[in-house]
Amino acid sequence: MNDLRELYEEVILDHNRNPRNFGRRPPECNRAAHGHNPLCGDQVEVSMTLRDGVIEDIAFDGEGCAISTASASMMTQALKGRTGKEARSLFDAMHAVLVEEAEPDHDRLGKLAALLGVKDFPMRVKCATLPWHTMEAALEGRDAPVTTE
Ligand code: ZN
Repeated sequence: MNDLRELYEEVILDHNRNPRNFGRRPPECNRAAHGHNPLCGDQVEVSMTLRDGVIEDIAFDGEGCAISTASASMMTQALKGRTGKEARSLFDAMHAVLVEEAEPDHDRLGKLAALLGVKDFPMRVKCATLPWHTMEAALEGRDAPVTTE
């Protein structure tokens, strides 16, 4: 149970209870993508206003577990005002820790480090990365739904 307590640490619970940038689409939204994690049942839609390569606004909608909701919520906070390139690089930094067992770069990850506890729970890693894969698809203007499988 200790592991689970660490996994659902307070910051994740807070973002799950009170998700930021949730349930709306940014005004002048021009990119959106849908993601699905069949293992857990998470569904997420990420939408953004992208202008001159900068994510001016980003929001999400959908239904998911605490981890996917918190990850999406924290992602929207972390990416607003960043360039698409910075967004991808931040996801690379998270992905490296979650999937490739790299040491976390705390300077770069900041508050997102709260999500890194899922790395010991392979099922949960997909919950955490789903919104990010979906964000990438939206950036690239891909139409096909994203799936973690
Ligand atoms: Zn999930």
